[in-house]
Amino acid sequence: MDWGELNAALDEESSKRYIAMTCHTEDQAAEKAYLHFVEEVEPRRKPRQFKLEQLFLEHPLRSRLPATRYGVFDRLTEQRFKLFREENVPLETEEAKLGQRYQKLAGSLTVQFQGKEQTLVQMSRYLEEPDRGAREEAWKLVVERRLREAEKFDEIFDELLKLREQIAVNAGFANYRDYGFQARARFDYAPADCERFHEAIEREVMPVLRELQGARRRQLGLAALRPWDLAVDPLNLPPLRPFEQVEQMVAGAQRIFNRLDGGLAGDFQKMQDLRLLDLANRKGKAPGGYQSTLAEARVPFIFMNAVGVQRDLETILHEAGHAFHAWAARSEDLYAYREAPIEFCEVASMAMELLGNESIEEFYGAPDARRARRDHLEGIVEVFPWIATVDAFQHWIYSHPKHSRAERTAAWLGLLDRFGGEVDWSGYEPARASLWHRQLHIFLYPFYYVEYGIAQLGALQVWANSKRDRSAALADYKRALGLGGSRPLPELFAAAGCRFDFSVEAVRPLVSLLREELAKLA
Ligand SMILES: [Zn+2]
Repeated sequence: MDWGELNAALDEESSKRYIAMTCHTEDQAAEKAYLHFVEEVEPRRKPRQFKLEQLFLEHPLRSRLPATRYGVFDRLTEQRFKLFREENVPLETEEAKLGQRYQKLAGSLTVQFQGKEQTLVQMSRYLEEPDRGAREEAWKLVVERRLREAEKFDEIFDELLKLREQIAVNAGFANYRDYGFQARARFDYAPADCERFHEAIEREVMPVLRELQGARRRQLGLAALRPWDLAVDPLNLPPLRPFEQVEQMVAGAQRIFNRLDGGLAGDFQKMQDLRLLDLANRKGKAPGGYQSTLAEARVPFIFMNAVGVQRDLETILHEAGHAFHAWAARSEDLYAYREAPIEFCEVASMAMELLGNESIEEFYGAPDARRARRDHLEGIVEVFPWIATVDAFQHWIYSHPKHSRAERTAAWLGLLDRFGGEVDWSGYEPARASLWHRQLHIFLYPFYYVEYGIAQLGALQVWANSKRDRSAALADYKRALGLGGSRPLPELFAAAGCRFDFSVEAVRPLVSLLREELAKLA
């Protein structure tokens, strides 16, 4: 318990420094404080953590701890102990710094468009413009800007790759894939299961994606879909604008939770009262959205950059799902159990997107509500193939040590042929070949991506259950969140009323459900 609370205090300090840095990117003291934690505190913490693991593992009474309560903790501790190598500590610090370099480079890119300098994040909204010429111009500027840095992105990745291969070898593994699976504590699935998942996506999801793309192409009246035609409304309607002020977004989200469940609604209200939300976009804030937990105080915090688009509603529902998870597990004494494995954390958040979208009328009239739901469900269909692409690419990368850049590009292009659908990239082959440079996870969090796919299947099951019996589905959802990380993944899924399974048999009925619901919204 003491060890856990020490970790909670350290993690809270790290979270606070991260939050301060991302809320004020121009504040150099904040950045320095965070980097100090990464470069000075973490490397000193790791060998001490290892010592504590050793004390636990060698303790004579360890075998008498009841397995039902301590089994998960025991297994995780043993795994960490087994993988630890003193000589990997500086390599991991180096890896974190390279990740920082990637983020700085990616975040610094801007283009001149419509008379002003704009970040690439800001540029993404022009892809929703009904004016096709403007979309194409915006898209082209962005890919050309990225392409000018392609050499640097490749260099950063080559360095990361070298470090990772060395880390795996030091820990006694033949390659970084085998190491990565263990380091990510994947006790319940193996690389072969992921490969089968890719195949299931190819067989079950790709036909639906092609159907959607075909319908989009016909609705837009085009001979071929180009990469800049994928985000615009297919009837050429202007983008959805659910709110003007961030206060309206918070109030609307609160009403959605009120309709869903009194307990969850109370949790969200508490976050407002305790000022645990920083949601509005403003100059000097890092891009994106995340939920972070202040581990010692045991309270969640949500960060995002709301600007008044539909995507913001999906983000606030998603991050609120994570926050509900933190509230639900907060009375757990053992710190290691106050957080669940990521494959299940994303069930909490993605299920909340689906459940919350059922009440999206809090923001829209009936026609726009249909459109918002359709956008969301289409997004789910589209993301599975991208997950398969990113995951299969990393499987290839880390099981082909010493590959050349040309071989890597060929592997990537082969995956885009398999999972890209009917999009015409002609004239932009180099941009297509380096499309992976924009996927932060490949650089910062190796192998962290398939989790979203596994979790989406869980979330879809929670949603399907709620269509049969909403209050039972919500009760299961809340009970599963309350278990935190105290049970193995298959049991967490079971508690939420779903199966931990990503075989073709599990994927098929969920894709059918998506297709049926999309047809209703057509
Ligand atoms: Zn998430």
